[in-house]
Amino acid sequence: MVVVSGKELKKEFDLAQAQASVGEVITFRACVHKVRGMSGFSFVVLRTARYLLQSIYTDGECEGSLEGIREGCYVEISGRVKAEERAFNGIELALTKITLLSKPAAEYPLKVSQRRLGCSLDVNLDNRTVALRNPYERAAFKMQEGLVQGFHQFMQANRFTEIHTPKIVAQGAEGGANIFHIDYFQKPAFLNQSPQFYKQAAVAFFDRVYEVAPVYRAEKHATSRHINEYIGLDFEMGFIDSMYDVMAMETACLRAMMEYVKAHYQPEIKILGAEIPEIGEIPSVTFLEAMEMLRGTGSAGKKFDLDPEDEVKLCEYAKEKYDSDFIFVTHFPSSKPPFYAMNSKEDPRVAYKFDLLFRGLEITSGGQRIHDYDEQVEKMRAQGLDPADFESYLESHKYGLPPHGGLGIGLERLLMKLLNQPNIRQASMFPRDINRLLP
Ligand code: ATP
Repeated sequence: MVVVSGKELKKEFDLAQAQASVGEVITFRACVHKVRGMSGFSFVVLRTARYLLQSIYTDGECEGSLEGIREGCYVEISGRVKAEERAFNGIELALTKITLLSKPAAEYPLKVSQRRLGCSLDVNLDNRTVALRNPYERAAFKMQEGLVQGFHQFMQANRFTEIHTPKIVAQGAEGGANIFHIDYFQKPAFLNQSPQFYKQAAVAFFDRVYEVAPVYRAEKHATSRHINEYIGLDFEMGFIDSMYDVMAMETACLRAMMEYVKAHYQPEIKILGAEIPEIGEIPSVTFLEAMEMLRGTGSAGKKFDLDPEDEVKLCEYAKEKYDSDFIFVTHFPSSKPPFYAMNSKEDPRVAYKFDLLFRGLEITSGGQRIHDYDEQVEKMRAQGLDPADFESYLESHKYGLPPHGGLGIGLERLLMKLLNQPNIRQASMFPRDINRLLP
């Protein structure tokens, strides 16, 4: 029998500790990133979970041989730390011991140790498990972690309760054809298009809730901004006066997320050359104003949503006029889904709904939701929906909901724009699109 106490946890490589250990020998485990033989010694670049470290192997000075140790091997090393300005992270190790822990069966199909992989996106994605060993590629997902951590921290600090809602559902919340059908024990079911119904239900008992979870959209076209499974950063808050409360919460949240990333992810910001936006106030235009600016007309005509080109132009305007990387667009036509968006009391032709655009792309949809039962039933009918089909959702309204609103941010879109990547697939560790289910 084995007893697991949890007391003897092995420590991961710690850069600050290593930097403070000049002159001393440290021991850690890592992957061999690159080996370069020189005359009489070899440079061995080691890849830890977050950093690259240069080490020097000299025959006769190291216990254990470099023989058979190559790119991709996992090793345990001991080495004396030396300050070295020119090396990664300002230190270099003179190896005193190297032990092979594991070796690959094949060579990498990509040039992992180059600064950039230099291959096409398809080759990168086909070989994703290898591509992500490249420090530039993996840094994007460390940044993704930073965004999510920043989101959690802000939500918790503002008394939002984290919830986990089902992804196998009986109904789509967003309507339309982009929903995945699944066979649920011979009954029809779907993959959730958003946690909307459950977030709203939870507002009744938690006031403020949030969720970080996958969202499924059966996008039938390959675009640079859609994938079929993305991570939604969702929140919903009760007791709002208007959708502007939700927009203010998002502004503060994004500001906190950017600050969090700046405070904790400098190594990745440097590797990626990322420009983290300063978020002051975010300008806001109504959909009609946007249409007027874009087309010089005060009418949206047949349009009830923004085109990708509109999003680019509106962001250019926000940058020029307000020096903002973000712009809100509010008051979309009320005839447009979603059916849960509250119609304006002043002008029922529009709804209290907003999108947030960032560097030319929509990253958020949000708004004030209908809390009144009769009003919700009426809007369903106005949109050609049968309230009887939404009996379960309407239970929340039937038994009472506070005035509330919320939003969903697409994590990959936010990361993609933060890193100025041209394709959303680069911002997804293992993207799912119409042609890709592996790896
Ligand atoms: P679009 O009009 O760009 O297709 P949407 O209006 O369908 O987006 P919403 O339903 O409003 O998007 O979803 C809220 C947010 O979720 C979007 O602002 C976006 O950040 C993200 N999102 C939606 N669909 C996708 C997708 N297929 N891939 C990645 N992110 C998505």
